[in-house]
Amino acid sequence: MERPNAWKNYTAEDIEKLNDLSARYRAFLDGGKTERECVKETVALAEAKGYRDLAAVVKAGEALKPGDKVYSNCMGKAIMLFHIGKKPLEQGMNIIGAHIDSPRMDVKQNPLYEDTDIAYLDTHYYGGIKKYQWVTIPLALHGVVAKKDGTVIDVVIGEDENDPVVCVSDLLIHLSREQMTKPAATVIEGEMLNLIVGGRPIDEEEGEGEEGDEKKAAKDAVKANVLKILKDKYDFEEEDFLSAEIEVVPAGKARDLGLDRSMILGYGHDDRVCAFPSVDAILSLDETPDTTCCCILADKEEIGSVGATGMRAHYFENAVAELVAATGTYSDLTLRRALTASRMLSCDVSAGFDPNFAGAFEKKNVAYLGRGVCYNKFTGSGGKSGSNDANAEFIARLRGIMDDNNVAYQFAELGKVDQGGGGTIAYICALYGMEVIDSGVAVLSMHAPMEVINKADLYEAKKAYLAFMKNA
Ligand code: MN
Ligand code: MN
Repeated sequence: MERPNAWKNYTAEDIEKLNDLSARYRAFLDGGKTERECVKETVALAEAKGYRDLAAVVKAGEALKPGDKVYSNCMGKAIMLFHIGKKPLEQGMNIIGAHIDSPRMDVKQNPLYEDTDIAYLDTHYYGGIKKYQWVTIPLALHGVVAKKDGTVIDVVIGEDENDPVVCVSDLLIHLSREQMTKPAATVIEGEMLNLIVGGRPIDEEEGEGEEGDEKKAAKDAVKANVLKILKDKYDFEEEDFLSAEIEVVPAGKARDLGLDRSMILGYGHDDRVCAFPSVDAILSLDETPDTTCCCILADKEEIGSVGATGMRAHYFENAVAELVAATGTYSDLTLRRALTASRMLSCDVSAGFDPNFAGAFEKKNVAYLGRGVCYNKFTGSGGKSGSNDANAEFIARLRGIMDDNNVAYQFAELGKVDQGGGGTIAYICALYGMEVIDSGVAVLSMHAPMEVINKADLYEAKKAYLAFMKNA
């Protein structure tokens, strides 16, 4: 059941569409390095296609009818798009769901300190990372600082080519005899991920003026200078770090990879390489769909889908309840029927086969770069703990839809049984009794600062998600 490389069957028109999609995807990656930025980008793309904020529709007491398009923004970190179909909601929705949080480091709440004339920000990593991969590379700061007066300051440092960047240092090889004997898990430990943010003391006059305490200014003069820069440029004080969310991500743009430009090297393919084609697919529905279509972009997947913006929270169910009310008469039973009768693609990345590490994979059941969108019947680890298990009948229907729409697809598991594992948001949506299967794009170097995808798989994912929404 080996699958052909999707590139082999492309027409000139396919290549043109693939290049267009890839260019827009790279722009989405560059503008969306955090969940908040991805939500902002998605709102802008959706509004340009006539989507309205569901909260405003509800507030105005408006009814919704087939053809209407609304989005529901959850705290600026998760978002859902709905395109109302001709059939009643009770008959279910065609849902595609991805996540927009990615592994990174977060700046701690009491972060700034100075040690031997270097100023640092202390961080706590987010999601599963190989810590040794995050040292010595240029990093950028993205996030918000919320002040007591209610203002929220957007911070982006390190993306403009004239911006400074920050980094974490590593020990020089010359003195690493002991470090090099350590297991990879402890070569760089979590508490060593301290960002270098300053190396120049504040001008003496300014130091005294600010602190009114000569000794203190002299002792922490580099830190004082960093604080002065933050105050001048962003108008916030050290105490404001307490109510800040600043994410540390690789600086710079995504790039075409390979001399043939067939791939993209970038930060956050997991899971924006599924989020973007999901959004692009629902926004390209030009006619009113038969079945209501929904695109969910969730937060906190990388740490277990927890919290108010993670998939385990109730925002999706609540938004559908509002839709039930706005398209007819609300009843709990109608809501439950709408959820249970739905079908979903849980769109998340899969491990791509890497010939350099062939031993970690089982070659018959792994995703190959360039061979199309990847379906996983189950995920999880060990004996499938934490898995969603898609029903055979649903998979059979999907095969029909994919074949009818000329989508290149492959079926895979993450890697060798008992080698490790991972989960997605699939099992959470499956709790409603809907049909769910994992469907995504194969990635190399998953969770590394820079990950690799093949453009053909991005293109096939978009085709798959569109075919699913129209036909499932
Ligand atoms: Mn993921
Ligand atoms: Mn992940």
